[in-house]
Amino acid sequence: MSECNHDFIGTAQHIKCRRCGLVLNAEQYKEYKNPQIKKTAGKPRQRKKVE
Ligand SMILES: [Zn+2]
Repeated sequence: MSECNHDFIGTAQHIKCRRCGLVLNAEQYKEYKNPQIKKTAGKPRQRKKVE
């Protein structure tokens, strides 16, 4: 199964890909756009000090 370069269109209820027909709700769409958010949320990140 090849990857679809999703071409999403938003409707009142959901977001749908015009190419493959994948349907996401608003929450799923957020996760799709920001897949790292949940992993890093609430976890303090160590920053490298550049000097
Ligand atoms: Zn798609």
